[in-house]
Amino acid sequence: MRKVLYPGTFDPVTNGHIDIINRAREMFDGVIVTVAVNPTKTPLFSVEERVEMLRKSVADIDNITVDSFDGLVVDHAHETGAVGIIRGLRALSDFEYEFQMALMNRKLAGDLTTVFLIPHEKYTYLNSSIVRNLASLNSDVSDFVPPVVVEMLKSKFSK
Ligand code: ADP
Repeated sequence: MRKVLYPGTFDPVTNGHIDIINRAREMFDGVIVTVAVNPTKTPLFSVEERVEMLRKSVADIDNITVDSFDGLVVDHAHETGAVGIIRGLRALSDFEYEFQMALMNRKLAGDLTTVFLIPHEKYTYLNSSIVRNLASLNSDVSDFVPPVVVEMLKSKFSK
């Protein structure tokens, strides 16, 4: 059973993330999607809310588990028995940061390989922050995120 870890902030999960999860699922027996507790970011959604939105969004895909962690990605990968780390690459602008992270993770844990997957072109301009901004301005985001996220954004911004 070759499982892979897909870590991220997922604030909130978008259809681009789901595309990457589906691609990873085709290559590995299982995907552990893990919500990172990143102390340098102030997320819109709590860890619990992000986990819940992810769980509901992947409910009909086999062999996906969702959890969260606070600490080093490589430690969580070892704890879960993952053989590698998945990251999505959208554009050249992602490359420098991702390259640095992948090399640092390899330095920390030489047994883990980072695998980069490229989403469908229609998701390459999509990120969680654009979705949050649109939703905060009352714009329809149903083309960009799973239905559960549409609802959660509505209730967040109607408060
Ligand atoms: P992080 O703060 O770790 O970058 P994100 O939730 O923004 O967390 O992204 C998690 C991973 O998913 C990253 O590898 C990112 O490049 C990738 N990703 C984000 N949005 C998309 C998208 N629209 N298509 C493909 N990959 C994406």
